[in-house]
Order: sequence, then C-alpha cells, then structure tokens
Amino acid sequence: MPPKLTCYGGVGEIGGNKFLLQDRDTQVLLDFGTGFSDGSAYFDSVIKPRGVNGAGDLFEFGLLPEIEGLYSEDALQNTVLKHSDPKVDAVVLSHYHWDHMGRVEYVDPEIPVYCGQTASLLHQANSETGGSPLDDHKLKTFRTGDRFRIGSIEFVPVHVDHSIPGAYGFIVHMTEGTLAYTGDFRFHGGAGSMTEDFIDAAHHSSPDLLLTEGTRVSAEDRRGNTTESSVLKEAIQMVKASKKLVLSTFRGNDIDRVNTFYKAASAAGRQLVVSMKTAALLEKLKDDGGISVPRVGKDVLVYVRRKRSGTLDDKDYRQWERRFLDHGVSASDIKKREGETFLHLDAWNFPEVIDIKPESGGTYIHAATEAYNEEGEEEAVLIRNWTDHLGFSYHQLHASGHAPMPDVGRMVRGVSPKKVVPIHTEHPELFMGFRGFGKWRLEVPSISKPIGL
Ligand SMILES: [Zn+2]
Ligand SMILES: [Zn+2]
Repeated sequence: MPPKLTCYGGVGEIGGNKFLLQDRDTQVLLDFGTGFSDGSAYFDSVIKPRGVNGAGDLFEFGLLPEIEGLYSEDALQNTVLKHSDPKVDAVVLSHYHWDHMGRVEYVDPEIPVYCGQTASLLHQANSETGGSPLDDHKLKTFRTGDRFRIGSIEFVPVHVDHSIPGAYGFIVHMTEGTLAYTGDFRFHGGAGSMTEDFIDAAHHSSPDLLLTEGTRVSAEDRRGNTTESSVLKEAIQMVKASKKLVLSTFRGNDIDRVNTFYKAASAAGRQLVVSMKTAALLEKLKDDGGISVPRVGKDVLVYVRRKRSGTLDDKDYRQWERRFLDHGVSASDIKKREGETFLHLDAWNFPEVIDIKPESGGTYIHAATEAYNEEGEEEAVLIRNWTDHLGFSYHQLHASGHAPMPDVGRMVRGVSPKKVVPIHTEHPELFMGFRGFGKWRLEVPSISKPIGL
C-alpha cells in the first residue's frame, strides 16, 4: 500500500487528535486523544457513556473511529466491531495532554505505546496518584537524538516547546516520502529554541507533507501574546505589591509555570505551596536530566487538605499522599503566614479558602487560558464570585501553550514542505494566508478520508 495519512480527529477542531499512518503492511497511530467538546451534544456530567458498553456508546456518535484490530476486548464488548489480534502496530504520542492520548485507554494492551521519556514520567506520576490512560500499556520511550523504526516506517522525534514538558514533533520517513508532524508547539515558553531545532531538522528532511497544529490560527485570537518570561516579570510585581495572601490557579503539569511562580514567590520573599498531585509530579521529574524543577520540602511546600476525620490524621491519607505530610502546610498554617505564602489553588479546591479564612485585600492570579466557550464562561463567573466573596483583587496572567498565528506561519515557512495539512485548528482555510511563505499546496483534511504523501 503506498503511504497515506488518515485523520480521525483534530479535523476542524482543536481536540481529538488521531492520525493513522499506513505504509505497506505497517499501521501506526500518531496520537489518540479525546476531543474537548467530545460528545457534548449527547453527553455531559449527568448523561454519560455506559462502561458496560465498552466503546459502543462512543462509536454510536462517531466519537471513536471504528478501526479493526485497534481496540481491547473490553472496549469492544457489545459492539458490532469484533475483537481480533492487533492490526495496528503501535501508537506514537507527541505529548502527555489528554487531547493527544486520552483515548489510549480503549486501545488493545498488546499494542505498544511510544512516548518521550519525560512523558512516561508524567504518566507514572498520574498512575500513582489516580490513574493514567496509558496504564495497561507497555511504554517504549525516546528522547531527541533517537530514531526508531516500526515496520516500514522510521520516526525521528525532535523536542518542541509547549506547556507541558516532554513534547515532541516527528519527522516520519515512509517507503515513499517523508512527513513532518509538529505536535503542539510555541516559541515563547521556557525553551523556544527546541521548536527551532524541530524546524531545522524538518527542513533538512525536505518533507512532502507538514501536518501542523494551528490552535491560534483565527481571525480573532483571544489568547494574547504574553511570553512566559513576561509572566515572570508581571508575577514578581504583583506578588511584591501584595501584603496579604496570594492565590493562583494554574495547571500543575505546566512545569514552566511552576518554575515561573517558584521564582516569583522567591523574588518576593514568599514560599510557593503546591498541591499534593503537583508535588508528586515534581518528585518524579527531579530524576529527568533534561528539566530542572523546584525541590519538594525545600523550595516548595505542599498543601494538606483535611480529609475524612478532619484532623490531618495519617490514616486519612492514601499511601502516596502520606510522604508529603512532613512538608505539609495546613489551612491554619497559611492563616498564620498569609503575607509570606503564594498558594497554588486548583479551581476544584476553592472551598479550602473557607478553612484558611484569609483577610480581604489579597491577590488572586488566574494563570490559565481565558474562557473561550460557554462552559469556561460559567467557571469564570464562579471564580469571580469566589474572589469577590474573599475581597481579593483578580488578575489574568498567562502565556499560551500554542504559537500565535504569525509563529505558525514561521513554522510553515521554516519547514517549507510540498504540502501543508492543518490540524488541531478550527480554521484550516486561514492557512491560505501563509501562501506568501513558499510554494506549497494546502490540503484541508476531512475525517476518515486518506491523504497521499
Ligand atoms: Zn498540548
Ligand atoms: Zn493539543
């Protein structure tokens, strides 16, 4: 079979990335993620797909592709698709974000999953603290500089800068032709030069096809052009200006952001206090030679929530949580040191402030993407209500995980492929605007329709 690419997700949408590569007898899935609004027309927090029906309730609405020899026996119970020996040779993941790997839980455990070494540490931390979609799979890991072959296809992973460590793009050599896949990328985070490395490597391989994300390719980009280094500058000012408690909501697996806020807290003479889940992740990543992380118990302390007995008794905590009790900080500890603390507070932990009872006049930093849909707007209203109730000032401060539109143009121009296939975007047609950047053809993908190289 001549090489081809089939998109089963990430088409006209930012989430749900699933790309099948076929070459001779080899079939490899590049990412296998969950859609952001996946099935929201049919399912919500009340109406949920039934576990007893395996993947059947998702097949019903086209939320998973019906590919033979891909799914586990469990996933196929009660569905028309019959379980068979694997026909897909591997799943190769660009990074550990749900929109790229969330659906691997349905994949046959016999099918190996390839991911970056750092992504496998993120998986291990998640696995130990609650569960990971990769739990049933044998992982094969890589770093930049490696190459690996799956059947007739050769993969060259090259790191990119993104809002989670261990993010990669790939140069994929097929029997006839070469494809480059960007994964999710930006240039304005902690390590923009890594994305430049990907461009160089991709350019030198003269790819026939560039599969590129375009999250922020849009007539109106609401994400703003803040860089991670300007987040640090502004955070230092905000934290220094505050005399009371500083609270911030941010993604605990965004290690650039953890480092940024650790530096901001230190510069202002404060102690950063993170959640147990983030602490578990930092401990896991301290052995990764490629990244530096603050030390748990020394550089950052860990917030301890009251559980069952309400008395911070060891027995209330799960095994993995108990090791943090020694460097633990409780609500009453924070109350005593409001002006010396910078507390990481996930939105679902907001009720903790009822125990902390901070004085009014504190600072709240919303360090996440601003609301872009109805659900996000509902949450934004809730957060405002909480900060108003506390009498805290509200600040939005965030650098996006994705490149702004001109930087996507820079990627296309730098790689200079023969054909561009935009995915992970709501506006693939706007890629025409980059036509000044070379003589490539634009191919807007359709779901399940194969594209030749
Ligand atoms: Zn991502
Ligand atoms: Zn993504």
